[in-house]
Amino acid sequence: MESALTARDRVGVQDFVLLENYNSEAAFIENLRRRFRENLVYTYIGSVLVSVNPYKELEIYSKQQMERYRGVSFYEISPHIYALSDNTYRAMRTERKDQCILISGESGAGKTEASKKILLYYAVTCPANDHMAALGDRLLQSNPVLEAFGNAKTLRNDNSSRFGKYMDVQFDFRGAPVGGHILNYLLEKSRVVHQNHGERNFHIFYQLLEGGDDDLLHRLDLDRNPQNYKYLVKGNCPRVSSISDKNNWKTVMKALSVIGFSDEEKLLNIIASVLHLGNTHFGEGEEGETHITTETQIRNLEKVRTVPLALMDAQICKNPLNFEQAMSARDALAKAMYGRTFTWLVEKINQSLALKVNKGSSVIGLLDIYGFEVLQHNSFEQFCINYCNEKLQQLFIELTLRSEQEEYETEGIAWETVKYFDNKIICDLIEEKHKGIISILDEECLRPGETCDISFLEKLEGTLGGHPHFVTHKLANGKTRRVMSREEFRLLHYAGEVNYNVNGFMDKNNDLLNRNLKEVMCQSDNQILNHCFRREEVIDQKRPEMAATQFKNSLMKLMEILMSKEPSYVRCIKPNDAKQPGRFDEVLVRHQVKYLGLMENLRVRRAGFAYRRRFEAFLQRYKPLCPDTWPNWHGKLADGVSTLVNHLGYKAEEYKLGRSKIFIRFPKTLFTTEDALEA
Ligand code: ATP
Ligand code: MG
Repeated sequence: MESALTARDRVGVQDFVLLENYNSEAAFIENLRRRFRENLVYTYIGSVLVSVNPYKELEIYSKQQMERYRGVSFYEISPHIYALSDNTYRAMRTERKDQCILISGESGAGKTEASKKILLYYAVTCPANDHMAALGDRLLQSNPVLEAFGNAKTLRNDNSSRFGKYMDVQFDFRGAPVGGHILNYLLEKSRVVHQNHGERNFHIFYQLLEGGDDDLLHRLDLDRNPQNYKYLVKGNCPRVSSISDKNNWKTVMKALSVIGFSDEEKLLNIIASVLHLGNTHFGEGEEGETHITTETQIRNLEKVRTVPLALMDAQICKNPLNFEQAMSARDALAKAMYGRTFTWLVEKINQSLALKVNKGSSVIGLLDIYGFEVLQHNSFEQFCINYCNEKLQQLFIELTLRSEQEEYETEGIAWETVKYFDNKIICDLIEEKHKGIISILDEECLRPGETCDISFLEKLEGTLGGHPHFVTHKLANGKTRRVMSREEFRLLHYAGEVNYNVNGFMDKNNDLLNRNLKEVMCQSDNQILNHCFRREEVIDQKRPEMAATQFKNSLMKLMEILMSKEPSYVRCIKPNDAKQPGRFDEVLVRHQVKYLGLMENLRVRRAGFAYRRRFEAFLQRYKPLCPDTWPNWHGKLADGVSTLVNHLGYKAEEYKLGRSKIFIRFPKTLFTTEDALEA
């Protein structure tokens, strides 16, 4: 057994519950730093795994390492993502209860890498199912595909997931993976038409241009230079040194074939069409109407036959759009095409992983979703993302308290109440019917007449002014708060304050696609687009749900799914903004410790007892310290533990014996015992 406890001065404690001063954020961060310096990137808070991104390849993910962690208890071995994966798997097998692993952290903290390591652990260590030998492969191969279409280079992460993902992995009664299912959340579609400086569009565009063979590019009427495509030059960053678009292209094409994809070309047609669409120009006709001007563009788009451009042109003229409107209609179409194709792709992958109706099967869910986000300018997207994190925090508190309480109950120990901040008040502020922010936004989007982002903000002020978690530039005494702009509202989230600029909220929530363009798309020759743009949608007069409400509903469903499972948590931390190994930026880490709610987590976990261990494990480790228990104790386990701790002089207030576990209140007691063992 490793004795990390004894080396604690150098490498810190491997479980934060063993920190003497568990209320001190400084002590918490110092412990993280010590371990990071020693390349120990994993630390527990009880059963929660905290992970710091090393930004370098560590030799801890090999097959041999996987073997080391198989069937071994958390505490017998150093903390690891494999330990968490293995424990979750065993809990599913022995308790026959569905599990889920929730991975959170800010962009670049290592969530996606963690989820891939978990998946790989299962693919390698679980028994294979004879009929489904390829399923593990297909599960693994879904990643490169989704990453090609859903990830992009951002300033914060060269491979940033621009969508949220929840994946169920289904195991049969023998513990072999037999199926899977993916739910996707809120793809950042705006990236298709615009990228900030230093950022890129989704990887697939560059992969296609770099990696596609000459024939394919010819068929799609594309040339290799990304600079020639308006939708790819906004960020002025077509190539990234850490990314090989060419190799990734090969990986993605191979992955598509493993998944059982046969019509890549239809998919790539859409990707090409988006690029051609971005290059279409508009000009004014004789009567002030807008026309698509470049003949070659019409030809290109006709050639790839996804967007019937002549029809589109006719529609734009028939319903005169001015230049601005035509441009924005074009961009909306590009976003809709890409976004819907992405959803279609997820459906396709799901068909390939198809969940089985299978008696005695259970599920492990993996959630890799955007962490709390505070940028310099926060908009609708950050609002949704941070709302999602409020919901996850609420779930976390509820489930942690529930499981603590359950453990106390099964062990027959009196429950000690824990005080904690209940963020329900903020969730309500956002999602409550009729008076929450989302409802008000929807109402404003539907209200006829002159509405705009500012009228939405005024509505918010009218309804929510005075709410303890909602602030605008208006002070209660009628004066203005100078530090805030007149276009902002501020929410006091559980993790801190965030100002949101209302500019664009209405448009993004409406997410409207020109009706005529929808009609045009229904006539596309491309079968994927036919599937994505249905005629019923054009005929149906009912307005579809708005973006924020759709997101809210999908989150509600997600909460239900997660509530029905036994959760485990991975909290990822990014050590510096430079994506560099060996650098630990204390200010940055402190922010994340706060956003991830780690101090609160530790407090809840430490409210009663710092340490708990099953009788046999405790006895096994410390029996040499007492002549009555050494070399073996033959009586009841509880009596053995009792004899041992009496001999060690534990005082009554220092510990409690449950039905199967000993609970120790202070780390000091344990350290003294541990030191005695070393002496
Ligand atoms: P986003 O929210 O932007 O999707 P993320 O939390 O998913 O971010 P990842 O893409 O998982 O972040 O990680 C970012 C980068 O950090 C990876 O591309 C990799 O270079 C590095 N990284 C993350 N985890 C590890 C690890 N365990 N070992 C080595 N490098 C890692
Ligand atoms: Mg990611």
